[in-house]
Amino acid sequence: AFSLTGKTVLVTGGARGLGAAYVRALHAEGAAVMIADLLEAEGAALAAELGERARFTPLDVTDEEGWDAAIADTVAAFGALDVLVNNAGIVNAAPIEHLSTAKWDTVIAVNLTGTFFGCRAVVPVMKAAGGGSIINISSVEGIRGSRGLHGYTAAKFGVRGLTKSMAVELGASGIRVNSVHPGLILTDMTTRIDPAHLDIPLGRPGTPEDVTGTIVFLASDASRFTTGAEFVVDGGMIT
Ligand code: NAD
Repeated sequence: AFSLTGKTVLVTGGARGLGAAYVRALHAEGAAVMIADLLEAEGAALAAELGERARFTPLDVTDEEGWDAAIADTVAAFGALDVLVNNAGIVNAAPIEHLSTAKWDTVIAVNLTGTFFGCRAVVPVMKAAGGGSIINISSVEGIRGSRGLHGYTAAKFGVRGLTKSMAVELGASGIRVNSVHPGLILTDMTTRIDPAHLDIPLGRPGTPEDVTGTIVFLASDASRFTTGAEFVVDGGMIT
């Protein structure tokens, strides 16, 4: 039930970090994978390395028309689009009284509005196919508050809420929508965080490969009765 053979997946922000790990894991389980990212060289190189069943399409998730092109590219390349992983994200930090409007707008645009654009664009394709799975990447910061991360937290709580209302509305169409909430995972995004002062019950920060099993599960038919759910993958950090 975990096999992804015959399924097509689009992963935003799939060129590096967690997204690239999702791409590799989904591909290894048999999926055809479209890597959608701003980073053209990295994305194209990953697609070339994986070879058959992997392609790259340039996408800025904040660009509405760009989404239509990326989805059309995917369907043209692989004939379907069964799973969308809304993973592209950025972080910025500032104390609330110093959080500029520009910083607020940017972090909301990429993490929340970009996820909304992706969901809205893919639903007609999934409805026509009789179903699908949408996996929205939030964060532990979509569940609790954190000093200095106000815009990021607002966006990631928003992704969690969007996920739940879509799950309610789309269940009858066979479309499942779930959110994933990683804890501290070592990537380019988190190089400035020192894990030493964090109390992580499993005793270490995560690697991108620590999150891939949850993504494969939600992409696969093994999760067929799961929608509107949130999956915390944090080594117990916010328990
Ligand atoms: P990363 O910075 O290593 O990778 C992010 C990817 O998204 C990059 O490839 C980047 O080019 C792409 N991207 C950024 N803006 C984009 C845009 N407008 N359009 C298309 N692509 C865009 O970060 P990461 O650590 O791999 O994070 C991936 C996701 O996981 C993000 O949504 C992040 O918020 C979330 N997350 C990360 C952690 C962590 O500890 N690393 C924890 C919880 C949640």
